[in-house]
Amino acid sequence: MSGTGSFALYRFRQALGLLGLLLISLGIEAKTFTLGVLSPRPVAITEERWQPLADYLSKALPGHEIQLKAANYKDLDALVTSGELDFVLTNPSHYIHIRYHQELSGALATLLVEDQGHRLSGFGGVIFALKTSNIQTLADLKNQRLAAVSSDSLGGYQAQAFELMQQGIQLPEEASQLLLTGMPHDLAVTAVLKGQADAGFVRTGVLEAMQAEGRLDLNKLRILNPQTGRGFPLHLSTRLYPEWPFVALAKVDDDISRRIAAALLMLKAESSVAQAAHIQGFAIPADYAPVEDLARALRLPPYDQPFQLTFADIWAQWKHWALILLSSLAVLLLAGSLYLLYTNRKLTRSHAEIKTMAQRVHHLAYYDPLTGLSNRLYLNQTLDEIFATNHHEYKHTSNLLIFINLDRFKVLNLARGNHFGDQLLKAVAERLHQQSDALDTQRFGYFQTWVARLNADEFAVLITFNRKLSSEMEWQLGESMAQQLQACFQEPLEFDGEQLSLSARMASSYFPDSPQDSTEAVIRRVNTALDQARREGGGRFVFFEAPMGEQAIQHFQIEKELPQAIKNQELCLYLQPQMRASGQLAAAEALVRWQHPEKGLLAPGAFIPVAEESNLIVDLGCWVVAEALRLLKLADEKNLSFELSINISARHFHQTNFVSWIKDQVYASGVSPQRLTLEITESLIIDNLDEVISKMQELRQFGFKFSIDDFGTGYSSLSYLKHLPIHELKIDKSFVQDVSTDADSAALVETILAVAEKMQLQVVAEGVETLEQLQFLCNRAEILYQGYYFSKPQPAEEWINSLA
Ligand code: C2E
Ligand code: CA
Ligand code: CA
Repeated sequence: MSGTGSFALYRFRQALGLLGLLLISLGIEAKTFTLGVLSPRPVAITEERWQPLADYLSKALPGHEIQLKAANYKDLDALVTSGELDFVLTNPSHYIHIRYHQELSGALATLLVEDQGHRLSGFGGVIFALKTSNIQTLADLKNQRLAAVSSDSLGGYQAQAFELMQQGIQLPEEASQLLLTGMPHDLAVTAVLKGQADAGFVRTGVLEAMQAEGRLDLNKLRILNPQTGRGFPLHLSTRLYPEWPFVALAKVDDDISRRIAAALLMLKAESSVAQAAHIQGFAIPADYAPVEDLARALRLPPYDQPFQLTFADIWAQWKHWALILLSSLAVLLLAGSLYLLYTNRKLTRSHAEIKTMAQRVHHLAYYDPLTGLSNRLYLNQTLDEIFATNHHEYKHTSNLLIFINLDRFKVLNLARGNHFGDQLLKAVAERLHQQSDALDTQRFGYFQTWVARLNADEFAVLITFNRKLSSEMEWQLGESMAQQLQACFQEPLEFDGEQLSLSARMASSYFPDSPQDSTEAVIRRVNTALDQARREGGGRFVFFEAPMGEQAIQHFQIEKELPQAIKNQELCLYLQPQMRASGQLAAAEALVRWQHPEKGLLAPGAFIPVAEESNLIVDLGCWVVAEALRLLKLADEKNLSFELSINISARHFHQTNFVSWIKDQVYASGVSPQRLTLEITESLIIDNLDEVISKMQELRQFGFKFSIDDFGTGYSSLSYLKHLPIHELKIDKSFVQDVSTDADSAALVETILAVAEKMQLQVVAEGVETLEQLQFLCNRAEILYQGYYFSKPQPAEEWINSLA
């Protein structure tokens, strides 16, 4: 027996070996497949339950082996993801979950189970309440207390929740209480029986089982939403869901899958394999779509993530429509482009024509056909535009309008004929055009010029600047323009070997001269001036003078007269004493005056600012220093030893040779430099600080003292003071005069006094006029006073003589 048995085994093994060799030679490799089984309970128990099935399947695949791996949800997922599994046996929800993430070939078979003597491949949920309660339909469940095993349970909760959702009741929100009892399902029944809940959920078969065990009288319960028409043998309140699927992953060869499926379906309920697994075998794969629908509706995994529509999804669903739409669009686009191309060509052509026509019309309307210059209309329009843009800011730009009227033109035209006249005008136009391009207005800033022909013999030149010129600049420019334009007519014109001398009257006016100024007004002004030029005879240039302010004229004249005045000894120095509080003389400041032959004695305010605009101030400064030294020597002779302060302008100080020049002067005079204080201003210091400091240091070493004039009005940065070799601060008279009335001025003066004390600087208070001012200062520090309270500036020699 054993011999035969061992022989049979031997033959079997041999046959298997041969089959294996055959499979290998057919290219189908002998392989180990792994079957993963969901293990809701301890892994060992699950393995024990399903190992016979694995062995059975191994046998069904000669030459291959099916290995079993039981795992909980998480581990099973991991095994699927890592590609270690070939087959999976799991519950329907988990199957939906895996299917969402992995490619599966689908369910090969669905588990058949035995329930209350029935063979079932599906299950569902039961919803029940006590018959004694008012709960009759699903709708009555709203806001009731509900009992269920766990919200993870498909048959014990999710199936019911899905059904309620279809009725418009959302769980758990719309239950007044959801009592989750935990396993087993019986506890949900007990809760309802005990009155802890108004209704309960269980998986199909639970109620029948409890009744069979004598633990429940089903007559006490009302089954809600009973599904009797489905041929399902147990109480059921929901739709049916399939039992566990046996799934193959996509990588598994089709042939293998087919053979496994066949083996599963062949498995008999009576077989030891089925008995061990507590199953009735396998049925053909059920439809798992209801599980998927439920998962989607209840937003269970994998549908618990916010739904994201990808382009691929849309494309998959709508690709036919999209293709039709896209091709129609393409056709429309093509037709549209062709049409546009056509009309665009037509338009471009007509646009070009319109443009040339417009240019022609514009030229005819705005240009003089004889000379090619702009005409009166164009000039008027240009003026209008200037007024329009400058309307609100007439103070910001200067524009000069000049009219030029040829003398004797009408006579010449009559005598020599029109043709000659035309040639003459053309030649004049050409010269004006060239000359206006060459006008030297550079030093007055950026400008533009236009030349226009207004009438037969009348021309206009318009000069615009990008800034406002000062009155005196306008005056100078006017004169300069007049000269330059008159130059056009100095050279005789040549016609057929004949030389012809021409002359012209000219008149001009600046504009805008007020916010109300206008094109008509400026033209009227220039015409008025032109009339005057006509009355005065040929070759004249007349400025319309009204816009020139009295002050501007004076300014202009001062500039002209001051150099002469310096040479002619029209300037003189006045001295103003600087006193101690005790009334004792400490020093004096030299202040310049101009004894004008016509205008009388001029204060520095009338001519120093003009002089400061040019190097005139340097000449003036030189004269003052020389005169101051002369006065000090005079005082020496009278044994008067006061010190003298002189004002040094920034421009003068910045002259490269200033230091050597003033040293030479003082050295030559024999006066001790210690007797001279140079008054400079804050603005001088701000420019080029390094150069200023080194110059000051050299002069300080030589013996001069430095005083900061008008202190407090400038940049008021006390910080620079410590870098400078200064001896004295002069508090500006504007503060001094306000000390007794204005708290800010008082505070500022106090600050200056404090800083001076700290830096050990002498202080001179300028413009002390009243006793109050004097007392305010006296009470705070020991300083010098310069002001009308003590003395006005006096003619120097007179004052010196009065001391002697
Ligand atoms: P400054 O250097 O601040 O001179 C002081 C000015 O205050 C002088 O005006 C003086 O007459 C005036 N003054 C003195 N005490 C009083 C007073 O109690 N009340 C009032 N209201 N004024 C008083 P001035 O002589 O008209 O000189 C004006 C400015 O002209 C000077 O101001 C100075 O900046 C400049 N200046 C005068 N002489 C020269 C000079 O020789 N060279 C330079 N570069 N500038 C000079
Ligand atoms: Ca001064
Ligand atoms: Ca001053």
